[in-house]
Amino acid sequence: MEGSCNCGAITVKVTDSELFTRRRGHTCRCINCRKTAGSSFATNLIIENSEFKITGEENLRVYSDPKTLSGTPVERYFCGTCGNPIKSVTPLYQGKSILKLGIFGKIPEPEWESFVVNRQKWEKPLEGTTQYKTKSFGEKLE
Ligand SMILES: [Zn+2]
Ligand SMILES: [Zn+2]
Repeated sequence: MEGSCNCGAITVKVTDSELFTRRRGHTCRCINCRKTAGSSFATNLIIENSEFKITGEENLRVYSDPKTLSGTPVERYFCGTCGNPIKSVTPLYQGKSILKLGIFGKIPEPEWESFVVNRQKWEKPLEGTTQYKTKSFGEKLE
């Protein structure tokens, strides 16, 4: 799976072979993800750093986002030219990154949804996904 930012300066290639053989990734409706995505939710994939490769890395800029639920800053990487979100990194997920899936043509069917308390009235839960009230792996809905 390969994708690039709007201007094409940054390309991300994912080598994980299980991407489409099972559910992968999650949606997130935390305020920070929504703002970063410019949308009602973000599609994210938590992945080992060894399972993807970024080209054009010198074009990446980073915003250290201090306003997180955990209080641990999240490093938000984006394209310095076009501003396209690429990945986030948090010490909570050692050796891993959170890829922003919007840059890929085909997005795996999500495994879970986080921060569903922020879901809009007109949005429905995605069938077959685990529903986390707020953070991933935290308290479940129902
Ligand atoms: Zn770009
Ligand atoms: Zn989020």
